[in-house]
Amino acid sequence: MKLTILGATGSIGVSTLDVVARHPDRFEVVALSGHRQVEVLAAQCSKFRPSCAVVGSGEDAKRLAALLKKTGTPTEVLHGEQALIQIASLPEVDAVMAAIVGAAGLQPTLAAASAGKRILLANKEALVMAGAVFMGAVRRAGALLLPIDSEHNAVFQSMPHNYAGDMTRGGVRRVLLTASGGPFRCTPLEQLLGVTPEQAVAHPNWSMGRKISVDSATMMNKGLEVIEAHWLFNAPADRIEVVIHPQSVIHSLVDYEDGSVLAQLGNPDMRTPIAHALAWPERIDSGVAALDLCAIGQLNFERPDLERFPCLELAYRALRAEGNAAAVLNAANEIAVSAFLDGYLPFPGIGDLIAATLDVVPQASVSDLDGVLEADRQGRDVATALLKRLGKPSG
Ligand code: NDP
Ligand code: MG
Repeated sequence: MKLTILGATGSIGVSTLDVVARHPDRFEVVALSGHRQVEVLAAQCSKFRPSCAVVGSGEDAKRLAALLKKTGTPTEVLHGEQALIQIASLPEVDAVMAAIVGAAGLQPTLAAASAGKRILLANKEALVMAGAVFMGAVRRAGALLLPIDSEHNAVFQSMPHNYAGDMTRGGVRRVLLTASGGPFRCTPLEQLLGVTPEQAVAHPNWSMGRKISVDSATMMNKGLEVIEAHWLFNAPADRIEVVIHPQSVIHSLVDYEDGSVLAQLGNPDMRTPIAHALAWPERIDSGVAALDLCAIGQLNFERPDLERFPCLELAYRALRAEGNAAAVLNAANEIAVSAFLDGYLPFPGIGDLIAATLDVVPQASVSDLDGVLEADRQGRDVATALLKRLGKPSG
């Protein structure tokens, strides 16, 4: 299978290459992308020898080309969004790992859908922003969409065989998404005002990129995942529930009409869903250790506390509002998270900024990519303007 890996230098990208390297007979890397981590991408190119590599800027492209020349690596170097779209739709490529973080991944991921590829979808923001448009492109081009997000991969594995988007027909009552609750599940509420970016990105179970780690701490990650589940499984908002499960061993569950509940379990390591989607419908070694249930001892569950995690409620609100709301939510979240990481917004300000942005941006219906991009721009503009009011420069 010939692969393009978008976001190869990130957490998911590195895990993907780890799985790929275990099966040299099975996978061939045709193209890789990074954004700023030129040295990391250069090392990946010299190991996997793709025909093409893409970075963000012309300057970084020159640096990468110079590094590749030193090691005699015959990889062509390109840069910019058009180049990402190009490597996502190369005719010789069978599968595209979509692992760019945030809205930047939308257009390349959409290009992979329109080109009818097997899409390994990690970039949940693309689906949150552009759900209807994206799913329409997948259907029209006959693309195969396989979820990498561990919860959705677990749901995919637990759904009826050949599930075609009709929960009632499949006998499915509810989809249950598990959430770890992140690093602040038990932090006294009054202390949340003072938590630092370093505390927020220190996830108890998973090692991930900075943006998704903050999303996990606010539980906006789970909110985005509720919207993602809606699009992937055609599940209405009131049939998607979130359960806090601090051990992150059960990755999600499907509740059937007859009372059966099917789940997928495993150690919290993204190489499992990556290997699952790379090889589906077969199974391959991912390098993940076998689950030792006796060493884990206990599995616990609790209901999410919406006072602590207002972002979860905001995501349900955006999903129910339809139209441009989810794209606005996502845009405001990206602005809020980077302001928090830059020390400009206190942690509880993330939810406040998103709520205020949703209040201000007028509701609109969205029928195409331009509509999605407009909603994204409006969300960013309004959130940036509101930030000046809510944010406080760090001392
Ligand atoms: P990282 O921050 O670790 O990696 C992000 C990747 O995207 C890097 O390759 C980065 O390049 C690249 N990138 C960043 N900005 C841009 C841009 N503007 N244009 C093009 N490329 C860009 O993120 P993760 O790997 O953690 O997450 C990737 C996606 O997968 C996210 O959507 C996340 O929600 C999702 N996901 C991640 C999980 C995880 O365990 N990490 C679990 C489930 C979903 P560079 O580093 O070279 O600058
Ligand atoms: Mg997840």
